[in-house]
Amino acid sequence: MKLIIIASGSSANAAVIENDDAAVLIDCGVTLKTLKSGLRQAGLGLENLCAVFVTHSHSDHIKGLPVIHRAVDVPFYSGTDVMMCSKFDGQIRTKDFDVQTFECSHDVPCVGYKISCGEKSICIATDTGTVTQSMRSAFYGCENIMLESNHDIDMLKSGFYSASLKSRIISDRGHLSNADCARFVTELAGFGLRRVVLAHLSENNNTPLLARASTEQCLARFAPQNHVSVYPASPGLILEL
Ligand SMILES: [Zn+2]
Ligand SMILES: [Zn+2]
Repeated sequence: MKLIIIASGSSANAAVIENDDAAVLIDCGVTLKTLKSGLRQAGLGLENLCAVFVTHSHSDHIKGLPVIHRAVDVPFYSGTDVMMCSKFDGQIRTKDFDVQTFECSHDVPCVGYKISCGEKSICIATDTGTVTQSMRSAFYGCENIMLESNHDIDMLKSGFYSASLKSRIISDRGHLSNADCARFVTELAGFGLRRVVLAHLSENNNTPLLARASTEQCLARFAPQNHVSVYPASPGLILEL
């Protein structure tokens, strides 16, 4: 099973999970052209997609949805209300993938997905202000996770965003900071976690270096006996899970 990052960050999000030439797309925050070229880099095309799953209706996750929906003749699903998507609760099976939804905490209804294929699985939560109980149940014992590491709190506080936007981001229904992400990853380290992909990094209030250092330092300090690899979710990243 492979994770392929097409885009990740405050302005565009799309990722692909591939297994044996079948693939699911998570979120449609990119143009069809960007999706095609991201798939091509991984040796895939639109014909490999068997389903699309959308996390929530913010534009950085759905701006390509209408065009991608027209171009790809596969089911579109969401664990919440999203245009053009069939809503589902709990679990769904498509080709060899079992996809389970869990609730995130965001300023619009938002879900994450646990995608399993045989023995392998990955949990994906891109937009959440806090770690929810539903996330905990899904993430514990999962070898691979893709988790939001949105901002460095000092960069956000001293940055140019308005006071109201800053408090929206910091709130429990906003976005997970590097420190929040690092704490949860460290909590999971003793439960079989092997790989962490840091997702949805803010272009203005974070850097891949800072996000990675935050999680790696927390792991080194509080879970030194567990080997966990940490990767910022940069476009073009292809990770064998
Ligand atoms: Zn969002
Ligand atoms: Zn987002």
